[in-house]
Amino acid sequence: MKLLLTVARRRSNLRWICHSCHGIKHATAPSYQAGKLSQASQQLREGGPARTRFAPSPTGYLHLGSLRTALFNFLVAKATGGQFLLRIEDTDQKRTIPDAEERLYEDLKWAGIDWDEGPSVGGQYGPYKQSERTALYRDHAEKLLDSGSAYRCFCTPERLRILAEYQSKLGLPADYDRTCAHVPKEESDDRAAQGEAHVIRLKIPDEKNSLVFRDLVYGFIRPKSTVKRDQKAQGSALTLFDDPILLKSDGFPTYHLANVVDDHLMKITHVIRGSEWISSTPKHLAMYQAFGWEPPAFAHVGLLLDKNRQKLSKRTGSIDISDWQNKGVFPESVTNFVALLGWSHNTGSDVMSMEDLISNASMKYTRGDTVVGFEKLWFLQKRHAARYASTQAESPYDQIPSHSLVQLAVKPVLALLNQPSTPSDFSFYRNITRPEDRQNLVQLLVFADAQNYTNPTEFIRRNAYFFTPPSAETLTATVPAFKLRKVPAPYLDKFSLATVTGICQTLVNIPDHSWDEHTIRTYLAKMVSMGVEITMKNSEGGVETGKKMEALKLKVEKSWAGLIYQYLRWALVATKPGPESQVTMELLGKMETSRRLSAAEEVLNQVKIESIVEEIEKV
Ligand code: GLU
Repeated sequence: MKLLLTVARRRSNLRWICHSCHGIKHATAPSYQAGKLSQASQQLREGGPARTRFAPSPTGYLHLGSLRTALFNFLVAKATGGQFLLRIEDTDQKRTIPDAEERLYEDLKWAGIDWDEGPSVGGQYGPYKQSERTALYRDHAEKLLDSGSAYRCFCTPERLRILAEYQSKLGLPADYDRTCAHVPKEESDDRAAQGEAHVIRLKIPDEKNSLVFRDLVYGFIRPKSTVKRDQKAQGSALTLFDDPILLKSDGFPTYHLANVVDDHLMKITHVIRGSEWISSTPKHLAMYQAFGWEPPAFAHVGLLLDKNRQKLSKRTGSIDISDWQNKGVFPESVTNFVALLGWSHNTGSDVMSMEDLISNASMKYTRGDTVVGFEKLWFLQKRHAARYASTQAESPYDQIPSHSLVQLAVKPVLALLNQPSTPSDFSFYRNITRPEDRQNLVQLLVFADAQNYTNPTEFIRRNAYFFTPPSAETLTATVPAFKLRKVPAPYLDKFSLATVTGICQTLVNIPDHSWDEHTIRTYLAKMVSMGVEITMKNSEGGVETGKKMEALKLKVEKSWAGLIYQYLRWALVATKPGPESQVTMELLGKMETSRRLSAAEEVLNQVKIESIVEEIEKV
């Protein structure tokens, strides 16, 4: 089977037909228009270049929530002409997953989130893996010990367990009672020198007002109140303090110490992270104060919830980013989707490329948690597919750019079709033997129906009749009520469907070498005229003249166009929605089109539908 198709022949302006209205629709790129910057976007830029960071722990893979954190930080850095850093917080070696780090790099790169400083690219504040900076954290913990802002805690795990049990019975938080804060410095140094196991704790100031901070999203945040009040209520003699551990007994830092030391040494200006960290921030501020450092600005963003307002779980869609990739979702659909989770903008369209996201970035994050609905992801996917199709109409099959529709959609669809497990009844496709003809068919189809592209499986299902003809049973089950709509009574005649099938035979007159969308369209217009002529023959008995006659003719023309398109859609694809009929015919080729028209005629003969049901409009 020879397909008379070439990519180069395609027009750059793709059109689709709306199956229900038969009208020609011109696909346009999404309506996003870079306009005036919002006040929030302007404000962000006025603050000067920002240095932001994404600081994942390699204890899991990138999922929607962590991708959003990375993206928000990335956008703020890019929008302000600053730098985006990637820092691997791998101090909790026990929970580290062996391939998590590599996967993080791959997934971030796939999403188009490249880092200016970090693993593999380096930078002047490296190394960017915390496990390679442990000496630095020990030095900083020592500094706090020397200044009296921290102390060694020699309490055994057993004592801490008993203490915690007691606290829990009294309904008190699992804070520390500061027993070791009273160990004199010399004794503490001695015991440490003799190798006694200990941790280093930060001494949180009793005066908590200095730890109040203004979060860029949530406003003023007060640290957790002291527990003295609760103790009184319980009549307990226990005094508790929220003194976090900075250095563990194995000499490794905790998240708190490493995070603060690195944010300071790496000159981070804005920390954008999940709201689960908001309660840690006062501890971090206590550390900034103890070191005498200026803290960065903090913006905490709400959690992502499912429709039942539960934290997103794997079951409800918080799957790894690579799973989205495997499902055929485009990187820009994913980044566009996550950017909209808890960020408000006034650009007029939600459909934004990465470039659009950067140009409109602001820190207008919404307060509170965000309920995630995945319908939006598929909506965005279709819109991005249409956007790519309208700008890459002539893209060659072997082009490389990662945002090309060929790479993102055509190749995956082809790969799926060529799998041995693809239904063997895809007879039309299977009979195409030359790989380049298969490529042509799939590429043209993807570009023609891009506005409906979600993923390869769904796309193949939607356009199944491009791979196999509709069966006689399907055609029989889908015969529509063929109508010449809204033709006034005096001009109606009884039509046999044979008139329509006869008119459609005209298509066979198109020479093989000019079987293309354009010529087919011209023929379709001729076919409509043939129908109009038959109907207007009856006008002799009518009353209309002049302008009225012209108006009538237009009506009749519309009716015939409707009928012919209705017939062709049924005959060719059993009335399934998809690319407009002339594109469908071009893609199927002349031979297959004629074959399907004959098969449809046979079905009609079997079901004995003889006349067109007339729909009379009173005039
Ligand atoms: N390592 C922390 C995490 O995995 C970083 C939190 C922060 O951004 O400070 O979420």
